[in-house]
Amino acid sequence: MHSAVWSDEDFCKILDDFPVLKRQINGKRLVYLDNAASTLKSKSVIEKMTDFYLNHYSNIHRAVHTLASEATVAYEEAREKVAKFLNAKPEEIVFTSGTTMGINFLVNSLVRSGILKPKDTVLISQVEHHANLVPWVRLSKFYGFNTEYIKADEKGVITKEAILKAKSISPKIVSITGQSNVTGQEMPLELIREIFKDSILIVDGAQIVPHKRLDVKKLDVDFLVFSGHKMLAPTGIGVLYGKKELLEKIEPFLYGGEMIDKVTFEDVTFNILPYKFEAGTQHIAGAVGLGYTIDYLESIGFEKIERYISELSQYLLKRMLELDFVEIYGPVDDSHKSLVAFNVKGVHPHDVSHILDENFGVATRSGHHCAQPLMSVLARGSKIDFPNSTVRASVYFYNTKEDIDILIEGLKYIKRWFE
Ligand code: PLP
Repeated sequence: MHSAVWSDEDFCKILDDFPVLKRQINGKRLVYLDNAASTLKSKSVIEKMTDFYLNHYSNIHRAVHTLASEATVAYEEAREKVAKFLNAKPEEIVFTSGTTMGINFLVNSLVRSGILKPKDTVLISQVEHHANLVPWVRLSKFYGFNTEYIKADEKGVITKEAILKAKSISPKIVSITGQSNVTGQEMPLELIREIFKDSILIVDGAQIVPHKRLDVKKLDVDFLVFSGHKMLAPTGIGVLYGKKELLEKIEPFLYGGEMIDKVTFEDVTFNILPYKFEAGTQHIAGAVGLGYTIDYLESIGFEKIERYISELSQYLLKRMLELDFVEIYGPVDDSHKSLVAFNVKGVHPHDVSHILDENFGVATRSGHHCAQPLMSVLARGSKIDFPNSTVRASVYFYNTKEDIDILIEGLKYIKRWFE
């Protein structure tokens, strides 16, 4: 048995749902380790979406015909599924196009509502993805607020001490990733909430939501944003959760059809939550697909997925640490989840990634992972000629320890080859 989490039979059923895993890449079985960028798509979710598109699709909310009502019901059911998944209320769930849109939405809406004012401070961390960094840095230049950072250590780790140190800044807003897409570190969100009791807390859930159930009420986050495509759902659909009382207060980011109550030539009043934030025709099938995805993940057992990914993450880290010719970034403990960013000494990450694909069928990501400022932090702590980028291997629940063994074999081959 490959894991105690599920039987071999159940696991085979999971694999059957991802036909691409049977594909040969350069004569080798595909080993897909680029899940942090985007996960594979499940056949059963796609089949349900195809049925939706072929037999039930229409625009939503507007018309009174049967198809419109079926599509509207499916769309609103998807919202309810997301709400239940996060322990939120349906009116607190806004569909967006993804995490990037969610953060841009929040920065703009918080400024327009007068909640984020000139001279206020927004605290983010040095490990943020550009999606949770560029909007703050750029818009601070227009709106006059300050962006400060929780410092990362030389391995890119956000320590408890660094979080405590930032307390004296008294930020109006703390916007932090739930898990770094480079160091793999899962952030201590409970601790962050406790330390920054009086700040608005925004969590970038792009990496954490796909493999850890977040209870937004228990965590007491004010806003949470994430993308469907990193958890089997289609691209172009994402979620912004916001506490009802805050969503009621903030100004929409996008204006247009459907988000209004009354419009005159002079003014406009807004629709009720959450429609006030869903201007224009939405990615209807995407939202419906996200709902089907949540059904699918729950049918497998989300807690099992969480446990299995933790088990795989520990195995991945342990096997990578065995390689003395590899430099690894991020924490060396069990806060390091689902991915490992690394460099093979003396070999450019693009070459490593290319050889892994060409000779072993292993898909990894190489580059700066949309975290250029973090690359400069890692460069300072690096013992090698740091190439300002890394290779990243990331797992999801359809991966196996055997996949990780193939990655390790590939890395040993690269070392021999370059010698
Ligand atoms: N935040 C993190 C931590 C990510 O890893 C990513 C994507 O890799 C994003 C934000 C942006 O997500 P998207 O491109 O789906 O908007």
